[in-house]
Amino acid sequence: MTSAGGERRGVGRVREVTSLANPLVKDIRALALKKHRDREHAFMAEGLKLVIDALDGGWTIRTLVYGKAGRGNAAVERAAARTVAAGATVLEVSQKVLAAITRRDNPQVVVGVFEQRYRPLEAIRPAGDALWVALDRVRDPGNLGTIIRTVDAGGASGVILVGECTDPYSLETVRASMGSIFAVPLARAGADAFLAWRAGAGVRLLGTHLAGAVDYRDLGASDGPLVLVMGNEQQGLPEPLAAACDRLVRIPQAGRADSLNLAVATGVMLYELRRDALPRTPEPAP
Ligand code: SAM
Repeated sequence: MTSAGGERRGVGRVREVTSLANPLVKDIRALALKKHRDREHAFMAEGLKLVIDALDGGWTIRTLVYGKAGRGNAAVERAAARTVAAGATVLEVSQKVLAAITRRDNPQVVVGVFEQRYRPLEAIRPAGDALWVALDRVRDPGNLGTIIRTVDAGGASGVILVGECTDPYSLETVRASMGSIFAVPLARAGADAFLAWRAGAGVRLLGTHLAGAVDYRDLGASDGPLVLVMGNEQQGLPEPLAAACDRLVRIPQAGRADSLNLAVATGVMLYELRRDALPRTPEPAP
């Protein structure tokens, strides 16, 4: 029997939903708005592989949604069983509902709703050659997702969001992170709290600035934990943050561009700083 919300109890604890008016579907669609994500401490991630990686990584799932095309798929059914075992909800939905949830005409078959995670800044005590990336008021979701992905690929420790930043758990940022949202620790703090933390944590701040005095190729090996500080897309680093940095580094430019894109500049810096830590591709045999 189908209820007014277009819901039908399926096999086990899987619920079949076909109506956009269903309250569970409405709640998931509301996660498109930051105020709902903040209130629910939840976010959405698309794709079976991402969902499996997140479950493997111990992320708390609230709801697993899959389209009818996922029915009978062994991997989808295993993910559904793990979701039920975790006490969460599984929805089998129509294509129309899946497209509305993901806001895509061609949605992925599986979507997971997970609890957000932030690491408290005071719990972060970088040691050894740890490299964190601090982003000052990053505004663009694509930049943030790309940076999270690059931090993951470069083997850096995590990202500290300083000041009013775009939401790392928006659909756009999660998409741009390509799954790295589940691998990279995130912290957030106001600028004052960030600088107070730095004073106690014994880390050096390496700022990037268009007027930096040091060429990024002349940095040399780091002798302790480091935080790479990147400025806002429009305004760059504000004066107090720039003044607090131990060194200000510049990436040289030829041509007419006045600066590099924030995510590109972060990638250039990360790969320079992690050059010796990353495994080398073996040379091909002669
Ligand atoms: N108009 C801004 C300014 O005056 O700084 C441009 C900001 S840029 C798009 C965003 C951030 O990327 C900068 O704050 C800096 O952290 C980094 N960045 C971009 N190009 C850079 C370069 N050539 N050298 C050092 N940092 C750079």
